[in-house]
Amino acid sequence: MIVVLKQGVAGGEVDAFTVELERRGVKIHLSRGASQTVLGLVGDTTGIDQEGLLAHHLVEKVLRVQEPYKRANRMFRPEDTRIDVEGPDGVLRSIGAGCAAIIAGPCSVENRDQIVAVARAVKEAGAGFLRGGAFKPRTSPYSFQGLGCEGLDLLLEARKETGLPVVTELMAIHQLEVFDGVDVIQIGARNMQNFTLLRELGRCRKPILLKRGLASTITELLMAAEYIMAGGNDRIILCERGIRTFDSYTRNTLDISAVPALKRQTHLPVIVDPSHATGLAWMVPSMAKAAMAAGADGLIIEVHNNPEKALCDGEQSVTPEDFSSLMGSLRRYAEFEGKTLS
Ligand code: PEP
Ligand code: MN
Repeated sequence: MIVVLKQGVAGGEVDAFTVELERRGVKIHLSRGASQTVLGLVGDTTGIDQEGLLAHHLVEKVLRVQEPYKRANRMFRPEDTRIDVEGPDGVLRSIGAGCAAIIAGPCSVENRDQIVAVARAVKEAGAGFLRGGAFKPRTSPYSFQGLGCEGLDLLLEARKETGLPVVTELMAIHQLEVFDGVDVIQIGARNMQNFTLLRELGRCRKPILLKRGLASTITELLMAAEYIMAGGNDRIILCERGIRTFDSYTRNTLDISAVPALKRQTHLPVIVDPSHATGLAWMVPSMAKAAMAAGADGLIIEVHNNPEKALCDGEQSVTPEDFSSLMGSLRRYAEFEGKTLS
């Protein structure tokens, strides 16, 4: 159940009302927006009479929520959430609420020259964030598994060199110990329903880029976000990265309709990964533009300075030159959608 309070209700009154409701056996999630305060009632609400609540002098309206997610629900927070990240260069970059961001870089960090060269190139082209995997979730245990801590150190060197904030994947909670310098933690498709991990991330204060599972529904993705939010971390960026279908022409099937669907259901920002969705570098520009036109709040794109020699996902990695020309179009798409690009 969601209770929308009247405009201009004082903090003290909200606190007293919250205590009153909690006495009736529910937990309260509070959302204080620019113009409205909303209370999410979690737990057994059967003892709470909707009509009775409506009669309360602080209450504007009461909504019964059908969806199993509350904190991620747009009903709970009508305004778009914006995730702000300050890079080592002191520049504030934002995702959501009219701000879009392009995250670019290689699938994996391979060596110092590679990550620094790609980082410089994507920065020059106008990317707002650098991506690069140090801990890689590979289907085969015999494939390159990433450089681990050494890769993370190299990524942080590229961060320092370029001033770009970095996004990298966390596979297990103990890795948090070495993620201090990381700006945005990525949770990959294969870990989207690792509930123990999600719960722990609720305690973390860093933004989380949460990728949709290979065969997960929109609701399951939102429930995964809800796990993190229930623990107290509201800084989540959702990512559509393609889902499994019967067709094998592309690596996955990019579900573009997930963008408007998610944006209708949630206030959280939604970005798209056209690289893992298609598996084909030549298809990345058209899908990137389609995603922006569908209202995405940004993109995560794999870029490699020598895709043919890449240790991971070379086939879907665009060159820095192709990325640079794509950025020109993306700026126009963002502008058309009324978004500021960072
Ligand atoms: C990645 O972004 O490096 C990655 C492995 O993506 P996904 O989890 O979407 O497969
Ligand atoms: Mn990859």
